[in-house]
Amino acid sequence: MSEAQQYEHEPVPFTCTECASGLMHLRFITYFTWLNEELLTVPNFPSWICDMCGRREYDTKAVSWLTMLLDPNAGKPTQRKRVSPRPRVRPSSRRRPSPDQS
Ligand SMILES: [Zn+2]
Repeated sequence: MSEAQQYEHEPVPFTCTECASGLMHLRFITYFTWLNEELLTVPNFPSWICDMCGRREYDTKAVSWLTMLLDPNAGKPTQRKRVSPRPRVRPSSRRRPSPDQS
């Protein structure tokens, strides 16, 4: 059994950006992150670890996936997707608390 089975293609080791001589290999470690004021731990989180200097980089796809899971509005505080458009919205009767300024 391979731990990389959840990937559609086999992860390819790449040159470390820190020491430029080692190779980053995919490992599954425990991911620590702060959610508000709670320390969250995610076991078996895909990360890239250098075999020379030990530099760790969490897999960016997995991180964004996790961020999305934890907070769908993360990174976009004012913009929201219109997932459920309401057919009977009367704009004149609704007051928006903050104007659209970007
Ligand atoms: Zn390295």
